[in-house]
Amino acid sequence: MAEKPLSVALIGAGMGGLAAAAMLLRKGQDVTVYEQAPAFTRLGAGIQQGPNTVKALRGIGLEQRLRDVSFRPEMTRYRDAADGTIRWERLQGDTYEEKYGAPQLLLHRAELHSALASKVPETYIKLGKTLTGFAQGDDGVRMDFADGTSAEADVMIAADGVHSVVRDAVAGPGEQRYTGRVAYRTTFPASLMNGREIEASTKWMADDRHIVIYYLNEARDEIYFVTSTPEPDYSIESWSTTGDMDELRRTYAGFHEEVRAVLDACPSAHKWALVSREPLPTWHKGRVALLGDACHPMTPYMAQGAGMAIEDAAILARCLEGAGQGDITPALAKYEAIRKPRASWIQAASGTNDIDQFRREQDKVFSYDAWTAPLDIPG
Ligand SMILES: Cc1cc2nc3c(=O)[nH]c(=O)nc-3n(C[C@H](O)[C@H](O)[C@H](O)COP(=O)(O)OP(=O)(O)OC[C@H]3O[C@@H](n4cnc5c(N)ncnc54)[C@H](O)[C@@H]3O)c2cc1C
Repeated sequence: MAEKPLSVALIGAGMGGLAAAAMLLRKGQDVTVYEQAPAFTRLGAGIQQGPNTVKALRGIGLEQRLRDVSFRPEMTRYRDAADGTIRWERLQGDTYEEKYGAPQLLLHRAELHSALASKVPETYIKLGKTLTGFAQGDDGVRMDFADGTSAEADVMIAADGVHSVVRDAVAGPGEQRYTGRVAYRTTFPASLMNGREIEASTKWMADDRHIVIYYLNEARDEIYFVTSTPEPDYSIESWSTTGDMDELRRTYAGFHEEVRAVLDACPSAHKWALVSREPLPTWHKGRVALLGDACHPMTPYMAQGAGMAIEDAAILARCLEGAGQGDITPALAKYEAIRKPRASWIQAASGTNDIDQFRREQDKVFSYDAWTAPLDIPG
């Protein structure tokens, strides 16, 4: 057991960075989170958290808070886009709780983000800090920020998302892949549906596009949808970019009447290019490691991107527990060895958007508990 906690710098206060900070604090380390945004804002999107993620979040005392602000569907239906034929009824609700030991929760992304932030004291989060460069030596890591300041830490974890500025220095140069698809996504008040109720949670699927629609809370007063829509020449990922609703409605004109009713009622939606990447050769170098989308960006078709970042955080915290200066690189190597096979598998499986594969393999996704999973390095 080390005499002194390690100082761990987290780059990025997204889902992965905040989860890692909260989990490392719980394991006795010192943390500082550096986030480029000047403030946290409530961006319009929903997020699903599977039982595997809820178990990881339980470990930092967030389960009840999230249950209180989430929708816990009895099932998600996978339907044919045009005629509504049911392809799969994925039983959730009590079935998931009994089988996997935790629920599937659907909620506003901002609720998850603020729940994670509530577990990291404000003084540990430095906003308006854009990492521009870093250098590591025998004694630690030095970080430089766009505002001209710098900082030092024993360990640096880059949780800076899909456009990570640290990734190439750790894993070598490589390109992320634009999938040729965009996600329109938004949340809007259910009151705009003029009293019409929708199915609780449904994925409407055509051969080349789909739309997922669900309620965001038990009051069923807020609706979320997210699409996967072909658009070969679009590559912008920005919360300030909105899509053309008329174009969206035309693109889904052949879909079931319920989908059309939702799109007719919705006033606006963000438009977001979907990107992916092949698994990286490595996730760590010396005292620096990658976490979350920085190392395994994935298409959202299994709703596991943030889930994988949060699982990464729990395994990282366990690997660094009690570590001293001499243990850092082996601990980061262990973290990568444990996490990479699972994250790469889910990255690949999500990319197929194959519901038969998901049906066959969901036990492997949801049974996992990052707090009890063996820390032995897979052979
Ligand atoms: C359409 C869509 C739907 C999705 N639905 C789901 C879902 O239902 N369930 C699910 O689990 N996942 C879902 N995801 C995936 C999920 O959003 C991501 O996997 C998750 O946000 C990754 O977390 P992260 O912390 O790695 O990155 P992010 O959440 O992107 O956070 C990165 C942070 O780093 C900051 N940053 C970036 N660069 C710097 C820098 N140089 N210096 C300092 N800070 C920096 C950013 O401002 C940001 O705050 C979805 C994704 C998309 C696109």
